[in-house]
Amino acid sequence: MNHRAGCIFCKIADGKAPSEIVYQDDTIVAFRDINPGAPVHVIIIPRIHISSLTEVTTKHRELMGHLIEVANEIAKAEGIAERGYRLIANCGQDGRQVVPHIHFHLLGGQQLPNKLD
Ligand code: 5GP
Ligand code: ZN
Repeated sequence: MNHRAGCIFCKIADGKAPSEIVYQDDTIVAFRDINPGAPVHVIIIPRIHISSLTEVTTKHRELMGHLIEVANEIAKAEGIAERGYRLIANCGQDGRQVVPHIHFHLLGGQQLPNKLD
């Protein structure tokens, strides 16, 4: 599955590290952020280890499209789809990406701040 040893999100995807999973299928896993920044804060990842947005290529087109579809479904299930939400991916040092396994933050449940961070 192209998992990377020592990667916390690969471990969560494999069920080898604890998390509160809210959705999973063959290719995507979503779980609650351990340090939530909003009433709803879900992390959505592909099961395969892709380091960051910059590693996404044409071969991931279906996977990335599916991930956004899943984010939409989770937003509905969490009750935030109607009022709105943010789906963001931090990339690299300037983007303040901390975990080097591509992930999208689904944030909502309140009006989110205007500030970038
Ligand atoms: P980044 O800054 O890389 O975009 O965000 C990483 C996010 O993953 C942070 O919001 C952080 O709280 C969350 N996170 C890091 N380690 C874990 C973990 O072991 N479990 C869960 N559920 N979330 C984590
Ligand atoms: Zn990984």
